[in-house]
Amino acid sequence: MLPDSQTSADVSPGGSFADQLGRPLHSLRVSVTDRCNLRCNYCMPQEEYVWLPRQELLTFEEIARLVEVFTSLGVHDVRLTGGEPLLRRDLPQLVRMLAANPRIRDLALTTNGVLFAEQAEQLRAAGLHRVTISLDSLRPERFSALAGRDSHAQVLAGIAAARSVGFPKLKLDTVVLRGVNDDELADLIEYGRVAEAEVRFIEYMDVGGATEWSAEKVFTRAEMLQQLAKRYGTIAPLNENSSAPAERFQLSDGTVFGIIASTTTPFCKSCDRSRLTADGLWYLCLYAQAGIDLRKLLRAGATPDELAAHISSIWRARTDRGAELRAATGKRGVLIGIEQLRQDPHLEMHTRGG
Ligand code: SF4
Repeated sequence: MLPDSQTSADVSPGGSFADQLGRPLHSLRVSVTDRCNLRCNYCMPQEEYVWLPRQELLTFEEIARLVEVFTSLGVHDVRLTGGEPLLRRDLPQLVRMLAANPRIRDLALTTNGVLFAEQAEQLRAAGLHRVTISLDSLRPERFSALAGRDSHAQVLAGIAAARSVGFPKLKLDTVVLRGVNDDELADLIEYGRVAEAEVRFIEYMDVGGATEWSAEKVFTRAEMLQQLAKRYGTIAPLNENSSAPAERFQLSDGTVFGIIASTTTPFCKSCDRSRLTADGLWYLCLYAQAGIDLRKLLRAGATPDELAAHISSIWRARTDRGAELRAATGKRGVLIGIEQLRQDPHLEMHTRGG
């Protein structure tokens, strides 16, 4: 069944194993669709894309079976993502199936928020633990220009719904682009206070799909801190020992916010994440050129033990540190051109789950 001679005997009981750089496998991002209802400039700047064939998408049962294998190997954080995950029909049903897996300690969703208000209650009832919603601007016209759609009010309604149905630890993600929304950092922190959400600022990343990327447009972590210090005074780093991508900071009044600085300050050293695409390809890094086809194994009848042995042996050999290698490149430009992305949509961030 498997392409090599691995057996379940290779898998450590309890799943305690690490890759070549000593990083455990704790977190899995599961993309449930490659489609999105926005066209954010930093992720999907084109109007048309080559989509994954529908018959190749994993069913909910297949996703749950693969997640079960991953959790048997030590994964305890599962994040549903996309594309825009709420475009996948009946998503609460998948949430319900995953919520029944007792090994998952953190079951989260990343969404652009457009459809969240209408599904918030069902998702909460299905057992979703928490949610992260993207909010790149508080100004409707600016949002429309950046996202290519006039959906700002729906996103704000989604944020309000997350609060009203009682999702704890709400997070708001903002990709900061120089000259576009870099003047809104303090406004977003103020909005986050009212929305009872932690705001996280993300540096513009040169991942696959970011065909408009340039180094000049990156508003850096250092610049974000400088700008916020002008408004709020002392900003204290929280110095947490965590593998989470965001570095967290505290203002003098206790407000906490995060910065995800993968472009200028990569955090590959502590990366315990991998990604499963909607069609069952497993990626060890956001920047990886190729994924491992788990759908093929699953549909060929591989047992959970065989899948676990395969996954663990691949993770053990992992050396990926894509963002660090990018940062070490002298002159950075667009990572992958449009033509190559059209030929292999798996190179797109919206396919592999950002
Ligand atoms: S670039 Fe790759 S290895 Fe580095 S943090 Fe991102 S996913 Fe992990």
